[in-house]
Amino acid sequence: MRVFKGKAVSGGYALGKIRRIDHGIGNVSRTVQGPLRERALFDAAVVIAKNELEELEQRATGEEKDILLFQRLLLDDEVLVNAVGDFILSGTGSAEAVERASELFARRLQQVDDSYIADRSTDVLDVCRRVVSILDGKPRERLNLTEPMILASETLYPSDIFSAGSGMILGIVTVEGSAQSHAALVAQTLGIPALIKVESEFLENCDDMPAALDGEKGELILEPDEACRARILEQKDACSRHTADWEQLLAAPCRTADGVPFSLLGNCSGPEDIEAAVACGAQEVGLLRTEFALAGSRIPPEEEQFYFYVSCLAAAGGRPVTIRTYDIGADKFSDGVSFKPGPNPALGLRGLRLCLQRQDIFLPQIYALLRAGARGELRVMFPMVGDVSEWDEAMELVETARENLRKRSVTFKEDLVFGCMIEVPGAALTARELAAHGCKFFSIGTNDLAQYTCAADRMDPAVEKYFRTDSLGVDRLVQMTVDAAREANIPVCVCGMAAGQPRMAEHYLRLGVDRLSMASQCLMDVKRHLTRADLHHPEQLPCGRR
Ligand code: PEP
Ligand code: MG
Repeated sequence: MRVFKGKAVSGGYALGKIRRIDHGIGNVSRTVQGPLRERALFDAAVVIAKNELEELEQRATGEEKDILLFQRLLLDDEVLVNAVGDFILSGTGSAEAVERASELFARRLQQVDDSYIADRSTDVLDVCRRVVSILDGKPRERLNLTEPMILASETLYPSDIFSAGSGMILGIVTVEGSAQSHAALVAQTLGIPALIKVESEFLENCDDMPAALDGEKGELILEPDEACRARILEQKDACSRHTADWEQLLAAPCRTADGVPFSLLGNCSGPEDIEAAVACGAQEVGLLRTEFALAGSRIPPEEEQFYFYVSCLAAAGGRPVTIRTYDIGADKFSDGVSFKPGPNPALGLRGLRLCLQRQDIFLPQIYALLRAGARGELRVMFPMVGDVSEWDEAMELVETARENLRKRSVTFKEDLVFGCMIEVPGAALTARELAAHGCKFFSIGTNDLAQYTCAADRMDPAVEKYFRTDSLGVDRLVQMTVDAAREANIPVCVCGMAAGQPRMAEHYLRLGVDRLSMASQCLMDVKRHLTRADLHHPEQLPCGRR
């Protein structure tokens, strides 16, 4: 039995075997060689990709099999292959040539006035991404777990978590990572215990080994003995039993001890965790992240998205659901969107800005949301808005979407409510103008707001101590947003991770925020704390503020 210490970022206990994931070479730096050599590399990568697809086809059935066959045939398409060849001849490296050619080819398909052919552009992007990954030396396989396991890796991506079937991931252990990373956040939302920064020796020879994960103490125990297994099992059991005050707390009104009302909302990523959030007392879904469950491996067509949003509304049982449009970019990847991250991904093309450039991705999502809006209490918000001009541009596209839906004579909600996330200092500083331009609510994303205010990459453990959601700078921006919301008489919510920390939740109430959205795991603890809090008493300043 060997015990490895780590930092718990999502609580709970797990017992099971380890599955080690290897992401291959990260941050590939591409060196461009002569056209002949680059062409040879491309040809070899195509052969490997075709072999992989053929193998996958043999295991697949139904529609998936057809898609894989179609993708394999695409790799013989003369137009695509010639376009790659032309880019290579003009001095571009093979990986970038494939990226560029696939964008061009996909765009052409999207312009065809036939929705079936237009939808195939996703397959072009998907298959080309496979070739690019081969050229970059990255793995292409999705997780294929045959039994529930604990995932172990240097680092983990949200797409890893979503690529395994529901309930198949018992726990997560990584050597790197930060508490604010999206993988940590998704683990919290899905209630999967997770440890980061576990000593690196742990990864040596851990594959397939029995292990116990203690997400409260921050320990990973390899080859646990009987006593340890029994302890983890007992604690796991106790965790799944509700606390003694659970029912009473669930029924209690959301009011502080001195009578200040508040609303508790859930951060979710799909119908399953909406049900979990509702069971923990969520009054609404305050943030539904669409880029993970929906856009992990490909961008689904409008119809599929429409059904997904309608199922989210159904899972919420009449409670309002606020859906965020894709926040792809920085550390949130989607295999369905091929683009080259810039030199500084957090400041690069991301969120709404990516969507404004990629209307082929954005418009189908807006169509589906406008249509689903006619089926229930749905609201939409844009991530990473930096300025009023970006909001205006997005709303012009919403108007285009409405016009197109009218032409198609489809039922949709004309006056669907749109709001925006406040995650960029520029947005907080211009919150008043955003409201004046028609923004109907604000949702403060303190994860990104802290990242950009403190100039500390939320993914980089080296600057973790500078990443301070409780800093005075972030507070001032929250306060400005609250003031602007009050003036415009529109709701304001905090949906970053800090809202799920009891003392920070109280702090936001003191700043005038009365809506807090968090992972379902946090709802009861926050409610317990807030219902006992008296806002007339002086506040203990949040964690270490000087
Ligand atoms: C945030 O930035 O606080 C937020 C809720 O968005 P995400 O963590 O998904 O970037
Ligand atoms: Mg964010």
